[in-house]
Amino acid sequence: MKRTKASKAQRVLVDGPVVGETGVKVVSRDGIETGLTTGATRTCGMEGCLGRRVCVKWPDGKVTYPCTKGMIVNGKKWRIG
Ligand SMILES: [Zn+2]
Repeated sequence: MKRTKASKAQRVLVDGPVVGETGVKVVSRDGIETGLTTGATRTCGMEGCLGRRVCVKWPDGKVTYPCTKGMIVNGKKWRIG
């Protein structure tokens, strides 16, 4: 996952989705799929990262844990960056 937009994502995170909230929309990197957060979170294991990994369930039933520092805030949605 590219980390170059981390500082920008961090800046706009203030007005973005609430980490740990259920049903927040997360748009896939290609913009085609939209998943929903389940409310579950984990600490990000990446060294030096202060983000949280949020559990996202996708329409195909797949579950992923994208890091908040790797996502772009778009209003009340996230987009995988
Ligand atoms: Zn992270």
